[in-house]
Amino acid sequence: MTRSRIAGFYNLTLDERRAQLADAADLPLSDLLPFNSLLPTDIASHMVENVVGTFSLPLGVALNFTVNGRDVLVPMVIEEPSVVAGASFMAKLVRAGGGFTATSIDPLMIGQLQVLDVENVEKAAERILANKAELLTYVDAAESSLKSRGGGARDLEVRIIAESPIGKFLVVHLVYDVRDAMGANAVNTACERLAPKIEAITSGRVHLKILSNLTDRCMAKAKCTIPVNELAIVGRDDIPPFAGESVRDGIIEAWAFAAADPYRAATHNKGIMNGVDPVVIATGNDWRAVEAGAHAYAARTGRYTSLSTWSKDDEGNLIGELEMPLAVGIVGGATKVHPAAQAALKLMRVKSANELAEIIVSVGLAQNMAALRALATEGIQRGHMSLHARQVAIAAGATGELIEKVASQMAEERIVRIERAKEILKGMKS
Ligand code: NAD
Repeated sequence: MTRSRIAGFYNLTLDERRAQLADAADLPLSDLLPFNSLLPTDIASHMVENVVGTFSLPLGVALNFTVNGRDVLVPMVIEEPSVVAGASFMAKLVRAGGGFTATSIDPLMIGQLQVLDVENVEKAAERILANKAELLTYVDAAESSLKSRGGGARDLEVRIIAESPIGKFLVVHLVYDVRDAMGANAVNTACERLAPKIEAITSGRVHLKILSNLTDRCMAKAKCTIPVNELAIVGRDDIPPFAGESVRDGIIEAWAFAAADPYRAATHNKGIMNGVDPVVIATGNDWRAVEAGAHAYAARTGRYTSLSTWSKDDEGNLIGELEMPLAVGIVGGATKVHPAAQAALKLMRVKSANELAEIIVSVGLAQNMAALRALATEGIQRGHMSLHARQVAIAAGATGELIEKVASQMAEERIVRIERAKEILKGMKS
């Protein structure tokens, strides 16, 4: 069984961290080896075109997560400092309230067929719906390993686009259960199979046949309850103390800003995606697809808004909720091809795409809270600065022990600039 609390993890060397991680995940160290090796170029050159090499990013592990009563160690691939630490810290606070409760629905993807040159779209729509059962059976009759796993065509819907730059046309939605895959290829194949049948029924021309990334039938939801006293901040140095109630109310006020204003909502949701994307990437999933779905869903009412909500319950606890489209897979795409993605799935011990989505949405909520808590109290820069200072020190040419030394001096001086880093470095070397 996995333990997601590992005391003093950040103080260990990389080798010690790997050993502790394997122990906490109850896995042999060899299962985590892909984390410290580059993607082999023979694999890379079969993944995309014109390959000349690979590009690596840091992989950190977020600690303290409990999702649906189970401890989870969360691999995160990201270039931005503070994210892994922020998610881990918030997960620790949420743990005190019982951890994250997450749910997801059947992974239904939508494939779209754009039907043009139809004489009477209303009549054509009726004819398609009258033939629905036969059409679904036809799509499902194709040889498909997805069907044998319980997936396949579930429904057909017809929409009339009344106004567009090319006038009125029909859109057919094929609702398709993709089980443990993200399903883009499976859905696109099914749409192409369906197209000639739709042309025959409508006497029209099927133009586009492609899945929609607004995957609002493939949703995941996370909820957390944080006891108000866990939110208190003990003052130290130049940080004033904050009572739990004031942090809680500050978070709710910050969320209200995002709920009401698209300029703020974009940044608020970016903070959520800071938690979501790194896990999507670590598991070999398509983060552009997840991003597209999240933002389209955030604008579903016609006004772009926050994906999450923050409130308090009758006992005064802080309640966070996040519901968003999350089309991810544990098979298909790069998930089975990239050795580090396989190791990431193993580390999380996920057995289904639903379970993976439930973890990812929980990390998104944790990361959202990390940003709101910092913004509502000490400000975002303070915690970020010392981590950011390390990147600036490296950019200025610091190596080895000098990275930490230059970074701490800049953080202390509160001047985190490359010119200053170079000066400090010069002084240290002379
Ligand atoms: P895929 O076709 O590689 O794999 C899915 C297949 O795996 C299924 O069709 C099924 O045959 C098989 N499978 C085995 N076990 C399964 C299980 N338990 N559950 C479900 N299927 C199982 O991949 P995919 O998921 O269909 O497509 C994902 C890829 O498509 C990603 O790489 C994505 O980047 C890409 N893509 C995305 C878009 C888009 O988002 N707009 C468009 C085109 C392609």
